Amino acid sequence: MRDYEVVIGLEVHAQLKTESKIFCSCSTRFGQDPNTNVCPVCTGMPGSLPVLNARAVEYAVKMALAVGCRVNRKSLFARKNYFYPDLPMGYQISQYDQPLAEHGWVEIPTEAGPKRIGITRIHMENDAGKLLHTDGTWSQVDLNRAGTPLIEIVSEPDMRSAAEAVEYLKALRSILVYLDICDGNMEEGSFRCDANVSIRPRGSTTFGTRTELKNMNSFRNVERAILYEVRRQVELVEDGEAVVQETRLFDAVKGVTRSMRGKEEAHDYRYFPDPDLVPLVLTEGQIAAWQAALPELPAQRRARFMDALGLSAADAEVLTAEKAVADYFEAALGHGVDPKKIANWVMGDLLRELNDRGVDISACRLSPAHFAQLVGLVEAGSINASQARTVFREAFDSGEEPKAVVERLGLMQVSDDAAVETWVREVLQAHPAEVQRLRAGEKKLMGFLVGQVMRRSGGKANPAKVNACITRWVGEEGA
Ligand code: ADP
Ligand code: MG
Ligand code: ZN
Repeated sequence: MRDYEVVIGLEVHAQLKTESKIFCSCSTRFGQDPNTNVCPVCTGMPGSLPVLNARAVEYAVKMALAVGCRVNRKSLFARKNYFYPDLPMGYQISQYDQPLAEHGWVEIPTEAGPKRIGITRIHMENDAGKLLHTDGTWSQVDLNRAGTPLIEIVSEPDMRSAAEAVEYLKALRSILVYLDICDGNMEEGSFRCDANVSIRPRGSTTFGTRTELKNMNSFRNVERAILYEVRRQVELVEDGEAVVQETRLFDAVKGVTRSMRGKEEAHDYRYFPDPDLVPLVLTEGQIAAWQAALPELPAQRRARFMDALGLSAADAEVLTAEKAVADYFEAALGHGVDPKKIANWVMGDLLRELNDRGVDISACRLSPAHFAQLVGLVEAGSINASQARTVFREAFDSGEEPKAVVERLGLMQVSDDAAVETWVREVLQAHPAEVQRLRAGEKKLMGFLVGQVMRRSGGKANPAKVNACITRWVGEEGA
């Protein structure tokens, strides 16, 4: 493996969050009865004429601007001809030699520091329908999705590992979600990617033959598919065989890629300009207006978190990756608690809880203000960190105010000196041998004794006070 370099280029399809389809006024709503959101245009009836959705153009241009592409003042729609049952027109309306935008880039974090991944082009096209293989006998066609607007984002072959490919995908997805133009859901297919993978001897300046991987519906599966494919190609080359240019499907159950078909070339599609659509012409004023209307993007937010809140680059990266998490974090600020403390709780307990439950932040019913209250309770020493975790898990589901949960569960941390001293005295008297050994210098017994006191207090004692109290007692009695 060390003798080879991995080369990866990605083609990403993002469904745009418009109300209606790209060339007709049918709804794009997900989960409707099959073939209810259809009309003569999106079912490819002869004589019907497509009309371009202006909102889809706005969204596509905003993405192009957000990744620094040059937006072409004039672009063309072309027919990409092929047959498949989910494509009633017999061609996809896409863009070919004059795409919407070209020459952009995004920055990804790598172990060696930030790295730029080039974006070759972004073009607009329509989605196909869906085939439902309901039983072994029949396949059914649902055209509700046919005509949903897509942008295809084609990268340069700039990635050198599966991890870089995943970082690139995360960066793109994050920008799309910040722009509010795509919901970024990989499982539901509104954010999909094909991975082009090749290997070459380290030091070589020409590219090896690539295969194109499809059918990965999560970041994890993109990584698995690429890792498998790289291993497969290395083994082929080591055995003196050649990599065949082809399209391969990832099988998530078996964790392998399988040949689907020989790779088609552009000329196989007989691209030609769609005679039903006029060229898409954008004015300087229109592009400038969309540029001015761009919201704050992940990289800008990261920089702001670092400058204004003093967060590290790594922390700012984690906090801004998901827009909804960053929004939650910002809403929790400004309740009199140190931003870094809130940041640590968001990155620690909040993200861990979301991850463990496999949900996104919309599932958390604890409001940002109450989240800040919880962190404040820990800071004030009213509850300790492990109690706070309990309160957090309760309030995550119930939305109850943390103070109320603390009271209901009787969790208030006891910092009262007399109470702490009583527990400490009882424990020390019950463990004279351990106290002797601690006095003799066996420091690790401190942890044992603190643990015993915490237990006796039902977890409520303030651990710092317990520690100080034991130290004092042991010292005094020994003197
Ligand atoms: P197609 O549409 O036929 O798949 P493109 O020329 O548009 O072909 O390239 C698709 C993707 O393949 C691009 O993201 C590009 O970076 C990537 N790519 C091209 N050559 C290689 C290669 N040798 N190894 C890995 N990726 C490659
Ligand atoms: Mg391709
Ligand atoms: Zn329609």
